[in-house]
Amino acid sequence: MTVRLSHHPTRYWHRLEDGRVQCDVCPRACKLREGQQGLCFVRACEGGEVVLTSYGRSSGFCVDPIEKKPLSHFLPGTPVLSFGTAGCNLTCKFCQNWDMSKSREMDTLAASASPEAIASKAEALGCRSVAFTYNDPVIFLEYARDTALACRERGVRNVAVTAGYISPGRGRTSSRPWTRPMWTSRHSPTTSTTASAAATCARCSRPWNT
Ligand code: SF4
Repeated sequence: MTVRLSHHPTRYWHRLEDGRVQCDVCPRACKLREGQQGLCFVRACEGGEVVLTSYGRSSGFCVDPIEKKPLSHFLPGTPVLSFGTAGCNLTCKFCQNWDMSKSREMDTLAASASPEAIASKAEALGCRSVAFTYNDPVIFLEYARDTALACRERGVRNVAVTAGYISPGRGRTSSRPWTRPMWTSRHSPTTSTTASAAATCARCSRPWNT
């Protein structure tokens, strides 16, 4: 399958009467004119439509222990391939990944990586899961979704580290559930966590999402 990296078409936006387009991915509801970028920096108005400019452009990869996500009852003791992109729809003053989340250096920061390449690399490295982390995957949900589906086809699980600052229904962008088992929240204690795990930890039999 040929994947178009970067400047990827998106689905959740609508045109306003004044000629601008409004992104409907998160509650920021950015209203954009041609050439403008949203608060997250990576969704922009191009050709009269909202596109994702970070599709296939990772800010780097790292193999972490799954407990660092932090998950203690999901595939315990296994490595996870972590990656993120530039940009974020949050503005936390304490962000530990500010150099990525507030980066405006898309070309120097981003490494090209298609969803299939990430899934393949995870498998080759012996990672049982891939994590969308460092910045909030809400802003690159099309990239995360395609990567998750590619991983699922290889038996690699997916973890999304997110504050859940997303408009209702936007996590389901295909007929197949692509973030099973879970989304975790570590950005703020006041934000919600959406979890869809149904299985239990093989070690202690507790549900994965507790
Ligand atoms: S995802 Fe980005 S462009 Fe869209 S509403 Fe949120 S901050 Fe704005």
